Amino acid sequence: MQVPAAFQYERATSLEQAIELLTRYGPEARVVAGGHSLLPMMKLRLAQPEALIDINDLGELALIRVDGHDLAVGAMVRHAELLASPVVGEHFPILRDAERVIADPLVRNRGTVGGSLCQADPSEDLSAAFSALRATLVAQGPGGRRTIGIREFFLGPYETALNEAELLVEIRVPIRSHASAYRKVERRVGDWAVVAAGAVLEISDGVITEAGIGLTAVGARRFVAEQAEDFLRGGRPDDEGFAEAGRIAAQECRPTADQRGPVDYKRHLAGELTTRALRAAAARAQGQEA
Ligand SMILES: Cc1cc2nc3c(=O)[nH]c(=O)nc-3n(C[C@H](O)[C@H](O)[C@H](O)COP(=O)(O)OP(=O)(O)OC[C@H]3O[C@@H](n4cnc5c(N)ncnc54)[C@H](O)[C@@H]3O)c2cc1C
Repeated sequence: MQVPAAFQYERATSLEQAIELLTRYGPEARVVAGGHSLLPMMKLRLAQPEALIDINDLGELALIRVDGHDLAVGAMVRHAELLASPVVGEHFPILRDAERVIADPLVRNRGTVGGSLCQADPSEDLSAAFSALRATLVAQGPGGRRTIGIREFFLGPYETALNEAELLVEIRVPIRSHASAYRKVERRVGDWAVVAAGAVLEISDGVITEAGIGLTAVGARRFVAEQAEDFLRGGRPDDEGFAEAGRIAAQECRPTADQRGPVDYKRHLAGELTTRALRAAAARAQGQEA
C-alpha cells in the first residue's frame, strides 16, 4: 500500500482564509482541489507537503458565469460541470471536445479546471485547449488580485507563474466570433493523450484574422504552436493551408519517446491532429457538424 508522508490538514472556509493559511504554513503548504493529481504524487512521495489546504468548500470558485463579454470559469469547477455547461458547449466547443476525452466520469466528477491548469502536467488537455483560446487567468494572493495571460502562466513542466501563497481563482475567455475544435489520440478510452491538438480560428470575409493552436503531450513550448499560428494568420481557411500548418506544428514541437510511442509517431500525430482540428473548426465556422 502506498501511504503519503504525514501532513497537517486545514479546510478553508473562504478564499481569504485559504490565502492566510498558505501564508502561515509557507512554501511547504499545498492547496488540494480534486486531489486527482496531488494525492497520487503524495502516495508516491513525489510530493511531500507539510500542510494541505483544502479549498473544496469555496463555492465562490465553483461557478461558470457569463460576465460582460467573458466566460468566467471558477478554478473549482469540476471537469463534469464544464462538459455539461450549455454556454461552454455553445461558444467553446474546443472545451467540450477536450472534456469528453479527459479520463473517465470518476475523475471528471472530482477533478477541477483549476487543478488541471495548476498541475501544469505536459499531458493535461485543458492546458492546451485554454492556451489555444488565449485565456486569461485570475490569481489572488496576499497582495491582492492580478491577471496572467495563459501563455505566460506555464513556465515549464509542473511549473507555473503563481507566486507563493497565491491561488488560481478564475479562468476568463472572451466570448467572440470564432470556431474551435480539439482532437486527441489515446491508447484506450479514458487514457491520457498520446498526442492531442486544439484549434481556434477567427475568420472574417474568408480570411483568418487570428489562429490559436494548442498541443498536448508533445513538449510544445507553453502548449502552443506559435509558428503555425503565424503561418495561418492572414491566409484562407482551406485544406492546403491547414495541411501546411500541421507540418509546421509537427516541426515546432519536441515530443519524447515513452510507453505511448516513439518520437516520429508522436510528431506525425501532432501534425495530423493539428490539421484535423483546424478542418473541424473551419467546418463549424460554416455551421457544419464536426
Ligand atoms: C486516472 C486519471 C486519469 C486522468 N486522465 C486525464 C486526461 O486524460 N487528461 C487530463 O487532462 N487530465 C487527466 N487526469 C488529471 C485530472 O484532470 C485531474 O483532475 C487534474 O490533473 C488535477 O485536478 P485536481 O482538481 O484533481 O487537482 P489537485 O490534484 O487537487 O491539484 C493539482 C495541483 O494543483 C494545485 N492547485 C489545485 N487547485 C489550485 C488553485 N485553485 N490554485 C493554486 N493551485 C491549485 C495543487 O496544489 C496541486 O499542486 C487524470 C487523472 C487521473 C487520476
